[in-house]
Amino acid sequence: MSRFQDQVVIVTGAASGIGREIAHGFAREGARVAIADLNLEAARTAAAKISDAGGIAMGIAMDVSDEAAVNAGVEAVHAAWGRIDVLVSNAGIQIVHPVVSFPYADWRKVLAVHLDGAFLTTRACLKHMYAANSGAIVYMGSVHSKLASPLKAAYVAAKHGIVGLARAVAKEGAAHNVRANVVCPGFVRTPLVEKQIPEQARELGISEEEVVKNVMLKDTVDGEFTTLEDVTEAVLFLAGTKTKALTGQSLVVSHGWFMQ
Ligand code: NAD
Repeated sequence: MSRFQDQVVIVTGAASGIGREIAHGFAREGARVAIADLNLEAARTAAAKISDAGGIAMGIAMDVSDEAAVNAGVEAVHAAWGRIDVLVSNAGIQIVHPVVSFPYADWRKVLAVHLDGAFLTTRACLKHMYAANSGAIVYMGSVHSKLASPLKAAYVAAKHGIVGLARAVAKEGAAHNVRANVVCPGFVRTPLVEKQIPEQARELGISEEEVVKNVMLKDTVDGEFTTLEDVTEAVLFLAGTKTKALTGQSLVVSHGWFMQ
């Protein structure tokens, strides 16, 4: 039997990049997957790809930083499928500036998507998980949940904050059989990273090749990007493990960039 047979999984930010691959991973393991993303059209297109591959998926419109939209989206999934077993809080954005000139509006935007989004989706799903006395939440952290890089103050602060949220949810969720963990990837070549390469080259005054080699992958053990499959594997493991011992943890998947 597949690992997530008949379970219901919500993945935020799953119309693109890492989230989309994670959604496919759960669907391959028998789950019904809700693709929650800003743009309904894009979410539906991603869901259709899963259906074409023989899985079960639905697309829902959700701005994770909008309380009403999150509550409505989670309720729609619960109404359609009757349960919520796993939340993958993955939606994220990146905006780079030096701290000294970081526009406050950009700071708030980054924190809203990562931190408010993680909190709001958690709260909406926990209600159903507690009622079922079962559930797992996996947050998308980053190596930047563990260390800092220049120009990324808002992202680094948000990703560190997610580890704190996961630990608090693990403490409170235990009495209801709900586990919470974080996956912390190194650089993965998604649109989010493709956008940063020229931006960082401009800000740091170096070439794009140098950004990849001397900034992004400098401290990996093998000079390799982390892959979508690497991250999906870790998410499926943390969501699916039967041991209650694995909660409140953050697992770094980064080709050795950060070792803990
Ligand atoms: P991506 O840009 O390819 O995908 C992000 C998705 O999130 C998009 O579909 C976007 O529409 C959606 N999104 C953005 N704001 C949203 C909002 N307010 N509500 C709902 N959806 C929203 O990016 P990605 O690289 O796949 O990143 C996914 C997650 O992985 C992020 O949390 C990111 O911080 C994290 N991460 C990425 C890397 C990397 O190297 N790519 C490394 C570590 C962590």
